[in-house]
Amino acid sequence: MSEGVSRPLLMVPGPVEISPEVSAAHSGSPIGHLSDDLVAAHGRALEQMRQIWQAPADAQPFIVAGSGTLAMEMAAANLVEPGAKALVVNTGYFSERMMEILRRYGARVSSVDAEPGYAVPLSAIEIALHRNKPDSVFVTHVDTSTGVRMPAQAVGELAHRYGALTVVDGVCATGAEPLSMDSGSVDVYVSSSQKALGLPPGLALLVVNDKALDARDKLSSLPPYYLDYLAWRPVMQAYEAREKMYFATPATNLVRATPIAFNEMLCDVFGETQGIEARWRRHAHVAKALNQAWRALRLQHVCERSEDRGVTLSALRYSSKIGPELVSAICRQGVIVAGGLHPKIKNTYFRVGHMGWSITQVDFLVRTVRAIANGLRECGEAVSPDEAVAELEAGLKN
Ligand SMILES: *Cc1c(COP(=O)(O)O)cnc(C)c1O
Repeated sequence: MSEGVSRPLLMVPGPVEISPEVSAAHSGSPIGHLSDDLVAAHGRALEQMRQIWQAPADAQPFIVAGSGTLAMEMAAANLVEPGAKALVVNTGYFSERMMEILRRYGARVSSVDAEPGYAVPLSAIEIALHRNKPDSVFVTHVDTSTGVRMPAQAVGELAHRYGALTVVDGVCATGAEPLSMDSGSVDVYVSSSQKALGLPPGLALLVVNDKALDARDKLSSLPPYYLDYLAWRPVMQAYEAREKMYFATPATNLVRATPIAFNEMLCDVFGETQGIEARWRRHAHVAKALNQAWRALRLQHVCERSEDRGVTLSALRYSSKIGPELVSAICRQGVIVAGGLHPKIKNTYFRVGHMGWSITQVDFLVRTVRAIANGLRECGEAVSPDEAVAELEAGLKN
C-alpha cells in the first residue's frame, strides 16, 4: 500500500498518528547509545519534559524504554513496600491495572469506585482518605476505557491534606490535559510515548518530585533492578548535562524522535496562548468540535457529564440497532477506531482517539467523522455525513 493514499488512518486512543518529521527521525539505522546525537537528543528531551510536565527544578524526569505500564510499575515499585496502604481512585480499566500492580508490591490496596462513565466525587475520596489513612493515592487522569477525566490536581491537594503522596496516571492525558507539577499537588506523573505526546510506542516517561524521590530513599527493600529510580537518575542527570553514561540501552531511535515531537507541542500557538498551554487548549477545542459532529450523528458519550469528560478520546455508545460490527464498518471506510474496553460495558460502545499531532491535522478529523458517519449508514442508521462534517468544521472555526 502506498503511504498516505490507501493506508488506513489510526484514530484509536493510542498509538496515534505521528508527524512525518517524527517518523523520519525514528526510522533508519540504529544510532549508538553513546553517540553525540543520542546524548544531545536525550538531554533535550528531558529538558522539554520539564516544560510539558511544568516540573519544579528539583523534580526528576525519566525516559525509560518500555510502555505506559512500565511507567505505572516504576511509580509503584519506588513508592510502596509490603504493608503500605494505597488508595486507588477507580474510574476503570487502568485503575484496576494499577490496583493489581500495587498488590504485587505487597501494598494493602483499597479503592473508591465509580460506575463506568462516572467520575469519583472528591467527597467520596475524602471519606476514603479519612477512613483508610493511605500512604499514597493513585488516580487515572483520563480513563481510556470510558473517557472519564478526574481533576487530578484537586485529588492531589486533598491527598496531601491527609498526608498521602499522589501518583497520577497521565498515559492518556499528558500533553493534552492541563496539569502542572509546579503546583506541588502531584508527586509522580507518569505517561508513555504513544498517546497525546505524539510519538511511536516504546517509551515510559515520568516526572518524580523531591518528596517521591525521598520516599524511594526510605524504602527498606530494593525495587526491581530495571525499575529503580536510583539506577536511572544518574544517567538522566548525565544526559541533561550532555554527558555519556550507561545503565541500560535506551530506545535510541525513539529517543532521537522525542525532542522533535516535543518541539511540535512546545511551538504550538492557539489564540493568545503558546507552548504547552496552547496544546492543551487545542485539544479541548478539537474535542468540542468533534462533539458537535457526534451530536449530528446522534452518538451519545459513555460519560454523559461534559465536565467529567477528557479531551483525548470519545467513548461513544452504539444505538440499540448496532453493535461492535460498527467498528469494522468504520475500518472499511479507511479509519481505525477501537472497540469498548471497560469489561462491564465492553460491547456497548466504541472509542475514537483524538490526541497528539493528529489533532493538528484537520483532514484527519474530517476523514474520521466522515468514516464514522458512513459506517453508521452501512449499519442502517439514517445519518448525514455532510451534515456531521459541516458541524465539525463549524466547531473548529469557533
Ligand atoms: C494506554 C494506557 C495505559 C497503558 O499503557 P501501555 O503503553 O499500553 O502499557 C495505562 N494507563 C492509561 C490511562 C492508558 O491510557
